[in-house]
Order: sequence, then C-alpha cells, then structure tokens
Amino acid sequence: MATIPIDIKTGNIDNDNSSQTELIVGIDLGTTNSLVAYMRDGAPLCVRVDESSALMPSIVHFTADNEVLTGEAAKEKLLIEPSRTIYSVKRLMGKSYKDVEGFGHKLAYSIIDEDSDSLVKIRVGDRFFTPIELSAQILRALKTRAEAALGQTISKTVITVPAYFNDNQRQATRDAGKLAGLDVLRIVNEPTAAALAYGIGVGAELAQTIAVYDLGGGTFDISILQIQDGIFEVLATNGDTFLGGDDFDKAISKHWLTQLQHAGFPDYEQDKSRLQALRLAAEAAKKALSASAHYNTTLEGVALELSRETFEQLIQPLVQRTLECCANALKDAKLSTTQIDKVVMVGGSTRTPLVKNAVAQFFGKPVFDELNPDEVVALGAAVQADILAGNRRDLLLLDVTPLSLGIETVGGLMDVIMPRNSKVPGKAGRQYTTSVDGQKNLKVSVYQGERDLVAHNRKLGEFTLRGIPPMPAGLPKIEVVFQLDADGILQVKASELRSGVEQQIDIRPTYGISEEQMALMLLDSIAHAETDMKARALLEARNEANNLLLSGRKFLEQNAAILDDAEKAATTSLLDQLQVSVAGEDKDLILANIESLNAYTAPLAHRALDYNIQLALQGQKA
Ligand code: ADP
Ligand code: MG
Repeated sequence: MATIPIDIKTGNIDNDNSSQTELIVGIDLGTTNSLVAYMRDGAPLCVRVDESSALMPSIVHFTADNEVLTGEAAKEKLLIEPSRTIYSVKRLMGKSYKDVEGFGHKLAYSIIDEDSDSLVKIRVGDRFFTPIELSAQILRALKTRAEAALGQTISKTVITVPAYFNDNQRQATRDAGKLAGLDVLRIVNEPTAAALAYGIGVGAELAQTIAVYDLGGGTFDISILQIQDGIFEVLATNGDTFLGGDDFDKAISKHWLTQLQHAGFPDYEQDKSRLQALRLAAEAAKKALSASAHYNTTLEGVALELSRETFEQLIQPLVQRTLECCANALKDAKLSTTQIDKVVMVGGSTRTPLVKNAVAQFFGKPVFDELNPDEVVALGAAVQADILAGNRRDLLLLDVTPLSLGIETVGGLMDVIMPRNSKVPGKAGRQYTTSVDGQKNLKVSVYQGERDLVAHNRKLGEFTLRGIPPMPAGLPKIEVVFQLDADGILQVKASELRSGVEQQIDIRPTYGISEEQMALMLLDSIAHAETDMKARALLEARNEANNLLLSGRKFLEQNAAILDDAEKAATTSLLDQLQVSVAGEDKDLILANIESLNAYTAPLAHRALDYNIQLALQGQKA
C-alpha cells in the first residue's frame, strides 16, 4: 500500500479562517421584491437597498441603449415599456419552454420557443437572456447596493428559495449567484428561514409542527414543517402560483376603472401610462387600507375613494382560495388545524387585516406577525448565514448530510462512518485494526458518496497515521472518528488507542460540489446498486480469504511440531486452492474454499491449542 501523505498537522486545522470574520449576508430573492439582511449586534437586520426601502422590486429594465435599470427605477417602466421590462423572472428559473407553456403568455415580455426541452430564454430587443442571467442582474444590484450601504464588500451569501423548488430551480439560483460574483454557501427554504427569523427551531425544543402562510405579490405558498432537533422537514406544500397582492391591486383597479369610465374617460385602459398610474394608485390604496378604514385619491381630476369594507368584499374570494390551499396542505400532511403548533405569516400581502384574520380564524390560533412579513424571509436567511459563519456555536445547524461519508478499507471498499441524512452537527466513529504484523503506518482516505467501492465515490482527502508501535496484525485498536461541525467542516481523527498516537485532518465535504452533482451521485448509486452489491460481496470474500491465508500459513509454521506430513500437505493444498480462487472473480468458490479450509483445520487448531496450554502449564511447573 503506497502511502502518499498529504500535509498533515496535528492539532486544530482551520481550513477557512476568513469565514470567522467575513460577513455572510442572507438574500431573499423574491418574485416581486428582493432583500438583503445581515447580523448586527446579534440580531438580523435588513439593508436599505432601494430608495430608502429594504425592498428592491425584482425587476430589470433594459433601456433602448442597453443600460440596465433595476428596482424602483425599473418598476416605473413596467406598463410603459413592457417588452423591455422583466418582472417575475423567478417563475422561469430552471424551467424549459415546456414547463412554462401554461403561463408564458401571461407575461408581458417575450419568451423564446427554440426547442421545447431546452431552458427558456427571454428576448429583449435583439438580445436574449436566460432567467439565470436576469436573476444575476437582480443579485448584482443587491450586492452593489448593500455594499454601498454597509461600506464593505460582500461575497458570501445564503439565498432562499420556495420549499417546492426542485433541484434544477435550486441549481439555477446558485448559478445566478455565481454569475453575480457571489459565493452561495447555502440554499435555504423560505418557510425555514421565516421560522428561523422568529427563533423557532433554533433552541433545544420539543418537536413541533408549524404552518408558514406566505402571500406575496404574485404567488401564494403554504408550507407545513415539522421541526425537531434543528432539522426542518417539509411535510407538505401547497399554493397557487398565480395568486397574490397583485390580484388585490387588479381588483381595486377594476373597481375604479368603471368609475373613471363613467367620469368621462371611456378609453382609460387603452393608455398604458394611465393604466400604470391606476395600478400604482390601487396598490397605494391597498397598503393604506391595511392601517386605516378609508382611502381617497384623485386620478385625472376624478375623485376616487375606497373603504376597507368594500376592499374586503373585493378580495374575499381570493382570500378564500388561499384557505382552500391550506386545507389541502393539511390533508396531504394528514394533520388537522389543531395539530399545528404555530402559524407564521410571510409576504407583504399578509399585512392586509382581512388576510391575517382569516388565517388566524382558519387555524384557530393567533398568528406570528410581529416581524415585517416582507422582511421575515431575509431576516431568517441572515440568521442561517450567521450560523454558517460559525458565530452561533450554541445553535444547531439546520441540516443533514446530503451524502454518506466514510473511509476506504482493504480492497477499496467504502466503509460508511456517517450515513447520508445524518444530523449535523454530528459525531460518529468506528474501530479498525491492522492487517499486517508490525504495521507502523495506516492510511486513512476519506470519501463521500453512496457507492460500495471508493473508486466510484468522491475523495475528500487522506492522511497517514504514523508511529503505531509494532504489534501483531489485529492487535492495534485504531479508532476513526468523524465530527461534522455546524459550519460544515468535517474533522477526521484517527487514534491508536493502545499507544495513544493520533492524527487528524479537517475537510469541507460540500466544497466544490453542487447540489446537482450530489443528486447525480445518489441516482448513480441506485442505478448501480446490484453490481455494487456483487462487487462488495466479492471483495469481502477476498478480504476474509486473505486474512485466513495469512493466519493459515502462520499456523503451519508455528505448529510444525504437532502436525504430521499428511496434515501439512492437506492444509497446504487447501491454502493453495484458496489462494488461486482469491485471484479469480468467483465469490462462491472463494467462500466454499474458505469453508473447506476452516472445516479441515478446526480439529488441528484445537489440538494445537491444547498442546500449547499443556506447554504453558509445564513451563509454569518447571
Ligand atoms: P414576493 O415574496 O412575491 O417577492 P412580497 O412578500 O414582497 O413579495 O409581497 C409583495 C406584495 O405585498 C405586493 O403585492 C405589495 O403590494 C404587498 N404589500 C406590501 N405592503 C403592503 C401593505 N401594507 N398592505 C397590503 N399589502 C402590502
Ligand atoms: Mg417572498
């Protein structure tokens, strides 16, 4: 076994000292609005990223001379230059044209239909953009604005996504981050972040089930989460991808449009800038009605008014639809409203009193609404970022290992020490021994993956445990312990318990691997399960045979005095026969030869044992 040791230091190795001091921000990359939050003095806080607001509209506008506008400035162009103003790009992330067939026409800009299976592109003038590129524009704007506001550079982030996002959508989000010059340390589910912002699930609490009701600008999501020991499990998600505050605005616009038409503007809706003004007035009215009972304004000299009562009548059916989704989610999770311990309100539209009241009534309990509902996801992302930064060692990391972690054992087999889905932080260990007499060094190679042979898994690192005092094979007690910290660093430590020699290495298992690659590795292991099982069985038979060959030949040498020639010849021939089969591929033949060798030598071994005991007793007497 060639040992090529890597640079090993004893004691603590910190792979990434910078993570201790560098700021990691949390980003809520929303369909309607995006936010950046960070930890200040132990509490999460949103950064002002747009015109004195923490919310930056997730909109990108390309001017005629290809200047890029983002946020409020882009929102102003929404109805005036719809084909050059991209909104709701989150809906297109990781999607092919086939995926968006049902709603592509609902968007005011043009989606390219090149090939049904390829990812969608958006055309602006004569240029083409992928949703990843457009999301990257939003992220880049957030980064630049947050850097200006905080006076420091930002590169590391945690980005949130809806709980129902699939691997493609998550990967697309990561890629957008990368394109924007951000290092995306973690993708976190939005409902998980919302719970974290309220401190739910961060302490040592009993298991609890929570509902996260998220009504944003254009989408509604209800998620039922089970939280235990720092792990957030999504039990069910439901919702409506075309239901949100925008629909409230439309309802008000429609209501007022009739009044405007009667007041001498029959073609009011034909004029895009007028329509834009009406839509903005409607949104202003809606927001005002969250705090007061009446709202008045004028548009084109026409006095318009709206009472909260009328507004509630207009949106009642929309709110009712969200409750139906809640009922469906509960049904999928096989839970009743009484089994929900907490209800968390998320999304700007939950500021509407009718929404809040209807949800509280539906679940039969007061809701969590003390934090700004449009900030709560970003705030929670900042909490998660802080945990990743290693600043909150008191907190559990809210995750599990995505792939199994283990070491290579004789014959190239993967010996799993920390199975996939193990809780993080976590610790697990196993004992090993040497296979050769007087073995002084032991190579520990660390792998990640689900396959039975390390050759098919991903190597994370290796080191050599040196200075094992010479002992017969099998006597040293070597303990290998894996400890995975909340910040994702795996410490692998090997120690020989009799002598106390030890060596360790620190590795970051998630470094340089994408969620997509991890998913592929999983699928791969399933596809190869049968061949892997066979390969493992053969290797295990070989290992057993090799051990038996070693001890068998030793036995012959040490007990020559008590064995007759026929016994020696028969044992040697059985050993040779086993040796030949080990070189072959037939597992059953190896096992059969092991069995015949064991059967033949068992009485001989007994005799040898008796003889040695007698010798020892005589020695004692003498
Ligand atoms: P998303 O998650 O879709 O990015 P947000 O959570 O930011 O969206 O919610 C945006 C929606 O919240 C918009 O429709 C906006 O008009 C609405 N909203 C914001 N403030 C209020 C308010 N005070 N009352 C009612 N609705 C509001
Ligand atoms: Mg949101």
